[in-house]
Amino acid sequence: LQQKWSYFEDNSTKENTYFLQLTSELQSAIENNQLEVFHQAQIDLSTLRVCSSECLIRWNHPTQGYIPPTVFIPIAEDMGLINQLTLWVIKTALQQQYVISHDCGFNHMISINISGKDIASQHFFTQVIDIIEDSTISADKLIFELTESASFAYNEQSLSLLEKLVDLGITISIDDFGTGYSSMSQVSNLPFQELKVDRQFVENVNDDRKRKIIAEATVKMAKGLGLEVVAEGINSQADEDTLRSFGCDIGQGYYYAKPLAIDDYISWLENLDNGRIKQAVQGEFIP
Ligand code: C2E
Ligand code: MG
Ligand code: MG
Ligand code: MG
Repeated sequence: LQQKWSYFEDNSTKENTYFLQLTSELQSAIENNQLEVFHQAQIDLSTLRVCSSECLIRWNHPTQGYIPPTVFIPIAEDMGLINQLTLWVIKTALQQQYVISHDCGFNHMISINISGKDIASQHFFTQVIDIIEDSTISADKLIFELTESASFAYNEQSLSLLEKLVDLGITISIDDFGTGYSSMSQVSNLPFQELKVDRQFVENVNDDRKRKIIAEATVKMAKGLGLEVVAEGINSQADEDTLRSFGCDIGQGYYYAKPLAIDDYISWLENLDNGRIKQAVQGEFIP
């Protein structure tokens, strides 16, 4: 017993030290350019063209390598750093969207993850407007994916903020639908235009009868409500075919591409044309 205890003690001390270290380093990580925005392609399932990308943050730590967002986003939320971090992601994403749409000429949207804590902040709306005005990207090229955090409840204020974002032209998307706090009551009460089916119902959808029934019901409900539907976690041609047969509009997953650093993402986009997945349409750049 004695031995077991000291094992647990050692281990939790180790974890605590790691947590404390990351916490103290996160603030300076933003200033020292250690954060990067990666892009994962989203494919229009009716044309097989790339239509958008999801921005996924990475922390390139000087000694520990890439730290995943699932580790440091909750820390940022607890420390009151999430607002600063989200604004940095939006600003960076818009600069990259300019390269994709203006320099490369692709008709392409950009999807950004927003924390529930951001929506609770009174200043968020004007901060977003300021970034968009500085960017020459129009708001109707932006999608905000709401990833729900346990500590957050929607209220009048956050509802009116979401409505103002929609009026501006931003698409609001409910992320990870079917898990945690991403629920039916939110879909019926909040102004969403897009729904992302969580990958636990999409990956290997044909291997499990219940998974398939849930995926089909979710897509049909969302289409019935007039929402654009994205399936995350497409891992095979069979996943794609099944989700398309349910009426799903857009696919995202390792079957198409992993999240890539911006330069790699642009090379990937530009080299697509001989494969099954096609480049985004070349569009006129409208600022
Ligand atoms: P999410 O928004 O649901 O993003 C999708 C996650 O699924 C990403 O993980 C992506 O790499 C992964 N993924 C995509 N396709 C597949 C697949 O086919 N198979 C598997 N196994 N995984 C796939 P990632 O990049 O580690 O991000 C995890 C979560 O961290 C995100 O989940 C999101 O909730 C959060 N996150 C990431 N970037 C940001 C950000 O800039 N701000 C905020 N607030 N949260 C972020
Ligand atoms: Mg997301
Ligand atoms: Mg998601
Ligand atoms: Mg997910």
